[in-house]
Amino acid sequence: MKFATKQIHAGQHPEETTGAVITPIFQTSTYSNKKLGESKGYDYGRTINPTRTALEQNLAALENGKYGFCFSSGMAAVQTVISLFKPGDHIICTNNVYGGTYRLFEQIIKNYGLEFSYIDTSDIDLLKNSVKENTKFIYVETPTNPMLNITDLKKLSELGRSENIITCVDNTFMSPYFQNPLDFGIDVVLHSSTKYINGHSDVIGGCLITSDEKTAERFKFLQNSIGAVPAPFDCWLILRSTKTLAQRMRAHNENAMAICEKISVDKKIKKLFYPGLESHPQYELAKSQMRGFGGIISLELGSYDKAVEFCNALEIFQIAESLGGVESLVCHPVSMTHGVVPIEVRKKIGLSDGLVRLSVGIEDKEDLIEDISKALNTL
Ligand code: PLP
Repeated sequence: MKFATKQIHAGQHPEETTGAVITPIFQTSTYSNKKLGESKGYDYGRTINPTRTALEQNLAALENGKYGFCFSSGMAAVQTVISLFKPGDHIICTNNVYGGTYRLFEQIIKNYGLEFSYIDTSDIDLLKNSVKENTKFIYVETPTNPMLNITDLKKLSELGRSENIITCVDNTFMSPYFQNPLDFGIDVVLHSSTKYINGHSDVIGGCLITSDEKTAERFKFLQNSIGAVPAPFDCWLILRSTKTLAQRMRAHNENAMAICEKISVDKKIKKLFYPGLESHPQYELAKSQMRGFGGIISLELGSYDKAVEFCNALEIFQIAESLGGVESLVCHPVSMTHGVVPIEVRKKIGLSDGLVRLSVGIEDKEDLIEDISKALNTL
């Protein structure tokens, strides 16, 4: 089955009692047993819920995986995957991960005796050299947030397999429509489904997908034990959204490309970051492992004041955290999403005070281009 067919049908069957075409919201916390010890396979809402199961099967199918697990946020998914490890384990993490992931690892998980190295995982030799005897996990974002660096998925998975290290890719920026890390041999895919998967800026959610049975068993245990599960209504909303994922992603990509083409010559932009530009240092790698380039563009405007002025001058792009929704948003990472990342770390990865991140929505591209051009002209 191809993607757009899967996005509508995977995990979804007419409801047994009525034949309802749309999976109902099973808004229940518990299930009745006909006799003591005789359940229908459903016991408690934290452990299992049919609306959640439909979403988990749908997302697993979209990532070409066997098992899906949904959570109440992307961070709850990160917490779950990191709970596979124990004190003394060493973890390698992309040095430019989402600020909240960095905060979870540095300010909470480290206190439990896990050791972290943050490196540029796009440098495969550096990655290889960073592996230690106790390295158990490599956690990668590709493209990264917000610098849009790319890590080679095939080389990453080969390294993981040869060294017996579990690999995980946060695929939030690409969505399963443009990139499927499991196809390259990656062990686990993570999403903040708050972003493109849901795409309408009205749900917080996360998921983990794997094809490995043992890892899946562990995720099932952790999902139930930690308990950060999504509400049935949120699962239903996300299921509603995945039905248009392909169409939305194509529109995000088309708009972002059109904007880049238009503004790449503007002298007010010191540097433009988008993996679909030939000038992107990993353009060839991006083309080889992604089927599109997504809707996130980062602009270096040269100074904090210029970044602020630009954000304030935009009219259609709203100043807001998050990304991946149908509406266009602008974010100043240093004062918003990545404020928790120490200044030395930000400097190292090129995340400057003048950097602005656009999440390009699916409005008419002419309007978005006009909005950006006008804002640039005010600088
Ligand atoms: N991963 C990435 C790449 C993100 O951008 C975010 C949030 O912005 C997260 C994970 C965390 O997801 P959530 O906000 O749904 O908890």
